[in-house]
Amino acid sequence: VRIIDISVPLGPNVPIWPGSRGIRLHWSKRLDAWYECNNTYLNCDTHVGTHVDAPSHFLVNGATIEQLPLEVLIGTAVVAYLPKVGVIAARDLEDLELAPDTERLLLRTRNSELWAAEITEFREDYVALTSDAAQWIVRQGIRLIGVDYLSVGTYGDRVATHRILLEAGVIVVEGLNLYDVQAQEYEFICLPLKLVGAEGAPARAILIRRDL
Ligand SMILES: [Zn+2]
Repeated sequence: VRIIDISVPLGPNVPIWPGSRGIRLHWSKRLDAWYECNNTYLNCDTHVGTHVDAPSHFLVNGATIEQLPLEVLIGTAVVAYLPKVGVIAARDLEDLELAPDTERLLLRTRNSELWAAEITEFREDYVALTSDAAQWIVRQGIRLIGVDYLSVGTYGDRVATHRILLEAGVIVVEGLNLYDVQAQEYEFICLPLKLVGAEGAPARAILIRRDL
């Protein structure tokens, strides 16, 4: 069994969306002569690093993160590699010739090289989906889409892409590190924190291969 951790390390160096406060751990207790334990507080943007968007991120009265179905967050996923594209359009997804029963699709692009190189600055020129690609995903019956940078939509047109997916109930996983991950099928597990009422949450995401 091979387990591949496709979540990114959450620390002060993780690249963050412009204006985000990112993530900070504060010590509230230090183990010393007076305290019996260490204790930290977490101060965190819910969209930091590897995370899941809930429908309420973009939709009035949309479902919140703890309401998302685990049956969709866990199951067989296809990793596809799109090394050459600068944006992902419907045609690029069409060309993947996915099996018609594909339910979960994770897209590896040149973005993953940014994680591998530990680039800490936010990059506006990341690869993401156009709104016609989002429509294609909905038409195809895909229930979960994962991308390897901080937004499923391009920097210039991210609202439409998010709305199309979230309105259709497609679960959006962002900030995956798919560097060096082969394009094939895996078992996929993604568990966002059960934050009551939140419109997103950091998640641990892994791939499993059993046939080695
Ligand atoms: Zn997000």
